[in-house]
Amino acid sequence: MSVPTVAGDVLESVAGAQQRLLASLSPLGRESVALGDALGRVLAETLHAGRDLPGFDNSAMDGYAVRAVDIAAASSSLPVALPVVGESRAGGQAAELTPGRAIRIMTGAPLPAGADTVVRQEDTRRRAGDVLIEVAAATGTYIRRRGEDLVAGQAVLEAGRTLTPIEVGIAAALGHDSVRVGRRPRVGVLATGDELVTAGSAPGPGQVVDSNSPMVIAAVREAGGEPTFMGIAADTAEDVRRLLQRAEFDIIVSSAGVSVGAHDHVRDVVAELGEVNTWRVAMRPGKPMLIGTVGGTLFLGLPGNPVSASVTFELFVRPAIRRLQGATEPMRRRIPVQLGETMTKPLGLETYTRAVLEWVGGGLPVATSSGAQGSHMLRSLAAADGLLVLPAAAAELPSGSVVDMIPLR
Ligand code: AMP
Ligand code: MG
Repeated sequence: MSVPTVAGDVLESVAGAQQRLLASLSPLGRESVALGDALGRVLAETLHAGRDLPGFDNSAMDGYAVRAVDIAAASSSLPVALPVVGESRAGGQAAELTPGRAIRIMTGAPLPAGADTVVRQEDTRRRAGDVLIEVAAATGTYIRRRGEDLVAGQAVLEAGRTLTPIEVGIAAALGHDSVRVGRRPRVGVLATGDELVTAGSAPGPGQVVDSNSPMVIAAVREAGGEPTFMGIAADTAEDVRRLLQRAEFDIIVSSAGVSVGAHDHVRDVVAELGEVNTWRVAMRPGKPMLIGTVGGTLFLGLPGNPVSASVTFELFVRPAIRRLQGATEPMRRRIPVQLGETMTKPLGLETYTRAVLEWVGGGLPVATSSGAQGSHMLRSLAAADGLLVLPAAAAELPSGSVVDMIPLR
């Protein structure tokens, strides 16, 4: 899939490049991890309920376990008095309820045999050893039935799901203390550029702090990968080659040096050591974006401008890392939003505009630009709630248009 631009330049579409990239990847191996280490990992097995949940009939309220027939005539003016003959508490096992009696019961406690209804404490009064029931209640009221949530054997969490704290809790409830998950991709991260100094050192004249590497390393971790910093390559083919020849990674991610400048060597070195599959993508920011292989390892060359690097990471690197872990939904879910202002953009380039959201009235959230959109400008990225996806085919989107947004926080 390619998109001709005004200049007649032929670029690959974002969706086409993403599909080609993801289709070339299959999940790495799997491993077993303790539930305590499972957060953010991708399930490699479908988890079934090992037993019914709830595991037994129990009370949904603090109150009294009774038989519905015994309280059929109860009302607040004519309460029914029942002797309280015992108690059922969470974790306990109560005696059987005989007709004409009540058993005090707590939330989550097993329903005593013989009882078929629970009356809330708020609908009762105590008088010596009796409870005065002030309401009639249908059979089954305030009872949580065994298996009403999950039945033993039922599939609950499908393979390919990413484990959030909610899934971790569900896995525990299903009886697991460890789960099989996709192996984390090992991701080598490098920067290129003679101007770069590592974060923490003061840049001299003409120098720039390498902010892309810490960003990429953090983003790799967020996506579930295991990052390793490979260093900063100078703007020479030899130095780029020296770093790229390391083979111990599943993915290598670089930033900068991938365009057509006199000192951009990444593309030539990748072509020499492996293969360039995609080089120019019809998007802004981020047009130079290299997808290829070096020595059989997936290579993703991001542009150097920090905003371009983070947007292309989001669109290409994150999904690749997630697919290698076996995620069935490697992309972040997009949400529809309404533009709160007219936006213009270059025709032919899918444009990712940093935007803030406001919720007004009952409609869709309303998006406006979060600030100046230069691809070197971090302030609008720092302020953004997400990236608007403005279609390649449009040059102007009137205020009120509905577009997708990739939420970033
Ligand atoms: P390039 O793609 O090499 O032409 O770089 C484009 C722009 O991104 C230049 O202004 C670079 O100084 C800047 N840049 C490149 N690498 C980094 C990095 N690792 N961190 C921050 N800025 C960078
Ligand atoms: Mg450069």
